[in-house]
Amino acid sequence: MTTSEQLFEKAKTLIPGGVNSPVRAFRAVGGNPLFIKSAKGPYIFDEDGNRYIELINSWGPMVLGHAFEPVEEAVREAIQHSFSFGAPTRKEVEMAELIIDMVPSVEKVRMVNSGTEATMAAVRVARGFTGRDKLIKFEGCYHGHGDSFLIAAGSGAITMGTPDSPGVTKATALDTLTAPFNDLYAVERLIDANANQIAAVILEPVVGNMGCVLPEPGFLQGLRDLCDKNGILLIFDEVMTGFRLAKGGAQERFGIRPDLTTLGKIIGGGMPVGAYGGRRDIMDVVSPAGPVYQAGTLSGNPIAMSAGLAMLRHLNEHPDVYARLEELGTRLTDGFRASMIKLGLDFTINHLGSMYTLFMTERPVANFVDAKTCDLPLFGRYFNAMLKRGIYLAPSQFESLFLSVALTDELVDQVIWANEEALKEVI
Ligand code: PMP
Repeated sequence: MTTSEQLFEKAKTLIPGGVNSPVRAFRAVGGNPLFIKSAKGPYIFDEDGNRYIELINSWGPMVLGHAFEPVEEAVREAIQHSFSFGAPTRKEVEMAELIIDMVPSVEKVRMVNSGTEATMAAVRVARGFTGRDKLIKFEGCYHGHGDSFLIAAGSGAITMGTPDSPGVTKATALDTLTAPFNDLYAVERLIDANANQIAAVILEPVVGNMGCVLPEPGFLQGLRDLCDKNGILLIFDEVMTGFRLAKGGAQERFGIRPDLTTLGKIIGGGMPVGAYGGRRDIMDVVSPAGPVYQAGTLSGNPIAMSAGLAMLRHLNEHPDVYARLEELGTRLTDGFRASMIKLGLDFTINHLGSMYTLFMTERPVANFVDAKTCDLPLFGRYFNAMLKRGIYLAPSQFESLFLSVALTDELVDQVIWANEEALKEVI
């Protein structure tokens, strides 16, 4: 038995399913989850001493690779001054200033502790601001585990076969309306059928949580126009795309200004952090400036702020990071395409910048229905064939992969080689 196997056996007796977040259990791909001991740069190491090339990167935030030295240094400095005060700090002001500087639509911002908290708060603010109850989300988008979002949810919810989770009340579910991603007409019909009742439209502007799915030309602008016409707030959930697809996230890349934005993970340099922000007049309804209540003892935690500031400052001062991420993403996906031509395969690759998914289907993937045509047992075999070759992928077809600038051209070529060999083995 490997150490990971021993730990998982024990974990299953102590923690539901043996894990603290469902996808980690490797249920969708078979096999035993790796218990991770450490990670550095482009590599992650398990408890058995195996080394893997990292393509999850903590589900996004490790855009500079693991244990990036300026972030480590900032944390070392910060811990000398205690770990939490539950009181305002200079670092929170610096963080707010930096986020507002980097993310085009954010004029005021509030820190929270996770992406889930950020989206829950953003929707409450939208409801409080508009005085309306309903919400439109897209099938296959994941916005954390808040009750309102566990309706046709992606990521772990679909991987575990529970896109509509038990435990969410019928009343809550009734307030969440869903449309297929990239379907403006469906959104328009929902708005017409619920006139003056929709507070917000929330989406991942580039989806990571049904695998990587791109907005079709005109989709984001179309949503912006529909929201403007109907007094609805547009919320971009940039928990994955923020500071990754561009310095200012997907909103910068596509030139669309949402009313509210949710951010996560990366703002803490990998520590538990989230944030929501947006138009000043909207954010000023948040307590204590206004009546919409939202709070957090650990919010703006000084260690997390220190890590995040070091990370975001580096990104802000090194735009070459984004050019490099583009190069890496293009090199990898071009390599995958060349392999598929060689092998006579025609699987779909969706890719933008440093996010990509290889879908085990020949159908173009523009929404959740398309994503669900993938051959999931084949994905499971492919995942394990890659793992055997030292590549650490997300253990589900319904996830994006994330590259970091710690990768070199040589490591990308190694991934391309592993991909070709893995496909040969499993087809
Ligand atoms: N929104 C999106 C787009 C996400 O990808 C996630 C998590 N992967 C969340 C929200 C929830 O974030 P957290 O897991 O930090 O609660």
